[in-house]
Amino acid sequence: MSVLKLFWEDPYRTELDNVRITNVDGETVTVDRTILYAFSGGQESDAGWLGAHAVTEARKIDGQDIAYMVPGHTFAVGDVTSMRIDWARRYALMRLHFAAELVLELMYRRFAGIEKIGAHIAADKSRIDFVWPESIGPVLPEVAAEVNALVDRDLPVISEFSDPGTQRRYWKIDEFAQVACGGTHVRRTGEVGHVRLKRDNIGKGKQRVNIYLA
Ligand SMILES: [Zn+2]
Repeated sequence: MSVLKLFWEDPYRTELDNVRITNVDGETVTVDRTILYAFSGGQESDAGWLGAHAVTEARKIDGQDIAYMVPGHTFAVGDVTSMRIDWARRYALMRLHFAAELVLELMYRRFAGIEKIGAHIAADKSRIDFVWPESIGPVLPEVAAEVNALVDRDLPVISEFSDPGTQRRYWKIDEFAQVACGGTHVRRTGEVGHVRLKRDNIGKGKQRVNIYLA
């Protein structure tokens, strides 16, 4: 049985009690319920605490389960403890993740046929890499202005399952976009805040957009 993922039902939850240890493998443990999101789609994993022990990394295993790295823990299977999230880190990841979602959607609209070849979401910046023959540098101020206009409108963001069985999810902004993604999303675009975009040269025919919170 895979872990109950409460970060989808409430991505703003910061503490969870009655967390049962379901498996221990050296420094790695699994639990029956969680609020800590794993590394996924280029987004760095959450960090936090299980009881008094720091959780340094969360990664997906066996499809729908999550393994937590807890160096120095003393847990045994069946122990019940509590979980806390490093909320400053998670919220920065949520904001930079959604900023990247908006940038990606706007880039797809502006450049027909542009292809995303990578993405990374960290707590201080996010980035998206594309295949595109010409520099996208000149249009980035316009794309940033479009993102910031969506932020200023403070639009509601809906996050739901498209298929609970396979745990496929999407986010949606009415009259803007619906996009498949299992990430943890902000509830309103205003939470992202204004962004700055900067192009990096990563080689011929490729374009990198760095995204910073302004
Ligand atoms: Zn997402």
